[in-house]
Amino acid sequence: MSRFVYVNGHYRPYHLAFTHIEDRGYQFSDAVYEVICLVNGQLIDMQPHLDRLSYSLKELQILPPLTQEGLSIVIDNVIQKNKIKDGMLYIQVSRGIAQRSHPFPLNTQPVLVVYCRYFHQENFMNSKSDGIKVICQKDSRWSRPDIKSTSLLPNILSKQEALDHNAHDVIFLDSNGYVTESTSSNVWIVNNKGSLQTHPATSKILKGITRGRIISIAYELGVPVCEVPFTLEDLYNAQEAFLSSSVAGIIPIAQVDQQLINPNKTGTVCKKVCQNYIEFTKNFGA
Ligand code: PLP
Repeated sequence: MSRFVYVNGHYRPYHLAFTHIEDRGYQFSDAVYEVICLVNGQLIDMQPHLDRLSYSLKELQILPPLTQEGLSIVIDNVIQKNKIKDGMLYIQVSRGIAQRSHPFPLNTQPVLVVYCRYFHQENFMNSKSDGIKVICQKDSRWSRPDIKSTSLLPNILSKQEALDHNAHDVIFLDSNGYVTESTSSNVWIVNNKGSLQTHPATSKILKGITRGRIISIAYELGVPVCEVPFTLEDLYNAQEAFLSSSVAGIIPIAQVDQQLINPNKTGTVCKKVCQNYIEFTKNFGA
């Protein structure tokens, strides 16, 4: 089936969707992005994603390419043209195209790219339901991971290192030894009090949209939530641990470095949260 991409004001066939070599996104990673999951024709939590895009743009002083209403029309068109019901939608905004020079260029229009592709979140979550292995590393990213910038070099190097060590992902530790997040997800534990615990939404992590959704689900389930940093030791000794992100959903962690996470018990809290999250996505917009 043909694929269509929105780039720079036009809907182009996928193989003809280009930006300029002097797009600052390409040369400087001077760009921000969002990824939204599409489940049964519904974009999950689209509004919070659009709000976070506006936040990232504002923090980097990049002009919004369209209003949120205009962007919603482009997004709808991309999904309709690609006839996709389950997938992921990618939005990127760069500062624009200008002769290469570090200062912000004058009179440059931002470049907007929107595309989607097939992905089935529930199937993916099911394929990982036995839990993944993660390894831990010092967080060597810049000091503003709360901005969803396309500067992802430390993230991709760490992800590759995880794969090279037969692990699924890397969990980052800040200079005080606290767990921040993983290369593309927020990190959760069920602590020894039975509460769900995750890093507070400071500038050290991306304030995940799925993270926010899990907090709402936990309150509905009567599971206490605490947004307080935890250490690697806390992670090793956790009753349960999992990752969350918009596309991959919720993925249990079975092993951190050489340490198995609670090997003798099934992760009941994680299972309940997963079931409720899947229900929520299936009923979204109903
Ligand atoms: N943390 C990082 C570094 C991410 O890249 C992502 C998602 O891409 C997340 C957390 C999870 O955020 P969300 O739930 O909004 O997808």
